Amino acid sequence: MRRSDREITDPAELESILKQALVCRMGLCDGDHPYVVPMNYGYRHGSVFLHSATEGRKIDVLRRNPNVCLEFETDVELIPAESPCSFSMKYRSVIASGKAVFLESAEEKAKGLNVIMTHYTGKEFEFPPQALEGIVVIRVDLEDCSGKRSRC
Ligand SMILES: Cc1cc2nc3c(=O)[nH]c(=O)nc-3n(C[C@H](O)[C@H](O)[C@H](O)COP(=O)(O)OP(=O)(O)OC[C@H]3O[C@@H](n4cnc5c(N)ncnc54)[C@H](O)[C@@H]3O)c2cc1C
Repeated sequence: MRRSDREITDPAELESILKQALVCRMGLCDGDHPYVVPMNYGYRHGSVFLHSATEGRKIDVLRRNPNVCLEFETDVELIPAESPCSFSMKYRSVIASGKAVFLESAEEKAKGLNVIMTHYTGKEFEFPPQALEGIVVIRVDLEDCSGKRSRC
């Protein structure tokens, strides 16, 4: 990282960002064309869980190429200033890579969905079998996790 003074290396702080961010941005490789999709997510024990409809560009791309880059940020705040060059943005962010794995069994899917639901509600839920059949649940085991904070 060019600004090593802003690098976050403490695993506990990296995990706190992954547990607090509201949205995950998933970067995909659609041939020569990068494709970024904002998504809801949940994080547990080094893995991120995502859910989706069974069709669409993102799913088509992931089935061809499961390599993804994920970005998360929290504590985002504009720091205004008198001069335009002194404006800043407060943030803490994580970028990680990994491979998207499609979860197959109803049990695995329900567990993945409950990681997502716990992220947003703090609670787990029961899912009817037909609801699980109609969706895709994806797990990404995070690799190369880097963190950065603004100086603010
Ligand atoms: C905060 C947030 C949370 C979301 N959470 C989820 C989630 O958990 N699961 C989920 O499946 N989806 C979620 N979405 C919607 C997601 O961003 C995609 O729109 C959706 O997954 C469809 O993606 P797709 O590749 O199948 O697009 P398709 O329906 O196949 O559409 C293809 C084209 O539509 C355009 N497009 C697709 N999505 C967007 C978008 N979000 N904004 C602008 N243009 C777009 C792109 O140009 C793309 O090439 C969320 C969106 C937001 C903003």
